[in-house]
Amino acid sequence: MEFVTTEGFRSNSTIVHCNNGYFYKIKCTRTNSKSLQCIQTDCSVTDLIVENLLYEKRTHTTHGPDMHYLALVTLKQYILQRCVEECTRLRVIYEEETSRTQGVEHHLEYTSLLRTMERTRAAAQPKIPGDLMEYAGNLVDAGYVHLFRTANGRAMFRGFVMGPPDPGSAVVFISPSLENLLTSAQNFIYYMSRLKAGPLFYKQNNC
Ligand SMILES: [Zn+2]
Repeated sequence: MEFVTTEGFRSNSTIVHCNNGYFYKIKCTRTNSKSLQCIQTDCSVTDLIVENLLYEKRTHTTHGPDMHYLALVTLKQYILQRCVEECTRLRVIYEEETSRTQGVEHHLEYTSLLRTMERTRAAAQPKIPGDLMEYAGNLVDAGYVHLFRTANGRAMFRGFVMGPPDPGSAVVFISPSLENLLTSAQNFIYYMSRLKAGPLFYKQNNC
């Protein structure tokens, strides 16, 4: 039978299936063939892939086809993707995504997925920067855009002020509603001058 290879439910896993509700993990890869093992732990069925065709050697006697598995994989992928791209609370992401599904949400418990969600979010965070310049690099990294938003979701102005060696440098975050005041607000310039980096920032902003 012709088969499909796709991402499995377990993290970084690959599964093989023929769109019939039975799923396999690759047990062994040889030059011209692959051995497959059913993903159900209580099932001992092993199949074979030879020349891009899957050969079923035995029938699954301990379980029937699982018609929810692929939908469950997709649901998990959506949830984890949002953990990477958003700062939304994990519980909210879980509830929003599971509410959009029909029939598979009961197969994905929040408590069993929580640790994976936490790990996924933590892995997507920038590393603790070694210096201010490295931190400034995170500010413009497209992968971290969601980390620099105001409470109402607007993109926050963020910039790096390269000061002379003596006063030093600074990273600034400014509400977008104040952004148009940057070049004229005397208070802001005064504030930045208190950081001993104001005049240079003023010049940078006018470039
Ligand atoms: Zn099986």
